[in-house]
Amino acid sequence: MKKNIAILGSTGSIGTQALEVVDAFPDRFTVSVLTGGRNIELLIAQAIKYKPKYVVVAHDEAIHQLKAGLVGLDIIILSGNQGLVEVVQDPAIDLVLNAIVGSAGLEPTCKAICSGKDIALANKETLVVAGELVMGLVKKHGVQMLPVDSEHSAIFQCLVGEHLNPIEKIFLTASGGPFRGQDRAFLAGVTKEQALKHPNWSMGAKITIDSASLMNKGLEVIEAKWLFDLKAEQIDVVVHPQSIVHSMVQFQDGSIKAQLGLPDMKLPIQYAMAYPTRVCNDFERFDFAKYGCLDFHKPDMETFRNLQLAFIAMENGGNQPCVLNAANEVVVEAFLQDQISFLGMSDVIEKTMAKIGNQVVKSLEDYLWNDQEARRIAHTFLE
Ligand code: NAD
Ligand code: MG
Repeated sequence: MKKNIAILGSTGSIGTQALEVVDAFPDRFTVSVLTGGRNIELLIAQAIKYKPKYVVVAHDEAIHQLKAGLVGLDIIILSGNQGLVEVVQDPAIDLVLNAIVGSAGLEPTCKAICSGKDIALANKETLVVAGELVMGLVKKHGVQMLPVDSEHSAIFQCLVGEHLNPIEKIFLTASGGPFRGQDRAFLAGVTKEQALKHPNWSMGAKITIDSASLMNKGLEVIEAKWLFDLKAEQIDVVVHPQSIVHSMVQFQDGSIKAQLGLPDMKLPIQYAMAYPTRVCNDFERFDFAKYGCLDFHKPDMETFRNLQLAFIAMENGGNQPCVLNAANEVVVEAFLQDQISFLGMSDVIEKTMAKIGNQVVKSLEDYLWNDQEARRIAHTFLE
């Protein structure tokens, strides 16, 4: 039986690589949902190639262009958040791969879980914003939450066969991004062009900026907390510039397990899609002789304040991670539009967290309200 997959965000960096995995294993996977945002041309081309049951475009105003491009095909075409939450509930879907960027991925993840779907999660913002709620739903509905983020996939892989053995701590590795080793005086003047040049990974714009500011690692710390049920003191960040060790788990006997490989997102994507099977592929293999040594350092949280802010948000709990994430989405967008400096981003995030204050959040509506309110407040600090 083929696994029937819904790919949310199919036009993005993760989405297109997920489709390459589908292409490589046509006997294993079939795609019944494709969704995209601004790149309608690509979404149309993908729909013509894969003939899914549904195609969803994020913005309502783009639906006419999408319909015109798919005229005569037997595809249900929908738009907006409404369309996303509708299609993930289709009974034929086995796995929802969420590769949307930002908190827009939260509601579709929740709806998919409540419809009993297993989730392959690239959209880390889902867990940063509402990890407690989402993991509660995972438990309640008995579905699998399979991480796609390479660090979390590494930890997940290290935990296979260890269900009776508690984690003592995890080591999340970080490349350090393009500005590793720089000081605040240097960071004050960096441009988006510099920040968009990641040394090891080619990714969407938002996560690339997050990697340069170390917010990506901050979001991943919070993501790991919820995925693996950890306390702050059980999560260490280790800078590892080569991005070969994707992360590590230390057990109660002091033994450490790591997962290694060349930096290629197709590997964790494939692992989540085919789980629990490891399928044979022709990806380039790691060659120890080529590297010689691998380096590990402590992260500099004073220079890269976003990582510190993420730890603070996690420890404060409640609405704070949601607010951190929303403010970050606003400032990253502003940085990409040359409306804020690199270091200014952390200032706005910190001010937004302080202004909205610590609040208890329970329902999806509470999270969505905090997300919107934090965006509104962050915008006022941009002016
Ligand atoms: P991307 O920008 O390349 O793609 C994002 C996708 O989401 C696109 O299909 C886009 O059309 C869609 N989208 C954007 N805004 C939307 C909205 N409001 N509603 C619905 N759809 C929308 O991003 P990416 O690099 O593929 O990252 C996707 C997610 O995966 C992010 O959460 C990111 O943090 C995570 N991730 C990415 C990588 C990577 O290597 N790219 C690695 C680990 C985790
Ligand atoms: Mg990652």
